[in-house]
Amino acid sequence: MKQPERDLEKAAQAKRITQTLYQCYGEPHWRQPLPPLDELVSTILSQNTNDGNRDRAFETLRQRFPTWEAVRDAPLEEVIDAIRSAGLAQQKAPRIQALLRAITEEHGRLDLDFLHQFEAEAALRWLQQFKGVGPKTAAIVVLFSLNKAAFPVDTHIHRVTRRLGLIPESANAEQAHQLLASYFEASDYASAHLNIIRLGREICQARKPKCSICPLNQDCAYYRREDHP
Ligand code: SF4
Repeated sequence: MKQPERDLEKAAQAKRITQTLYQCYGEPHWRQPLPPLDELVSTILSQNTNDGNRDRAFETLRQRFPTWEAVRDAPLEEVIDAIRSAGLAQQKAPRIQALLRAITEEHGRLDLDFLHQFEAEAALRWLQQFKGVGPKTAAIVVLFSLNKAAFPVDTHIHRVTRRLGLIPESANAEQAHQLLASYFEASDYASAHLNIIRLGREICQARKPKCSICPLNQDCAYYRREDHP
């Protein structure tokens, strides 16, 4: 089926963005991929915090509880204590335990390797049935741990792609995932995802974007406005 003209324009812009950032930053590196269940728990821990706090909480959790069964069956307070460095521990700990119980009930064991057999869309849907697992968390597991096509949209990507004019200002997280997954090529997902996050951290920062040194400023709706900084 022929795609609407607007989609093709956006896809062309997405390709230019991918290529420009690749020229600037090169091939980005993701840390060693984790098994799907580990990646899922790690990504839940990463919500509303930075990578360092996420990693500290994950390591403490794994040190205190040698298996996911032990995390599932531990007193809630002990799990809260183990993941405290990730923040929102009172919320994240019960969600992680509920998730581990639900997976056990559905599959008889704590293992998400069966998701390797799923199509990307089916894996995304399956993961999002759990409380605390939204489109970004599911897409991170599918892209990096299952090595399948999904485009995770974190706060940096959401902000940068809105400013670029790639998605509407009004796009919510769910819409941003759908639109960006359709604009970027699946083979570019990991590179574009990681390099846009880097641009968001280093240049297109929330409060004061450094537009004058941004490699994307000629392709940016925000920059084209007269009142750009
Ligand atoms: S030109 Fe400015 S607003 Fe646009 S992407 Fe670059 S830093 Fe962000």
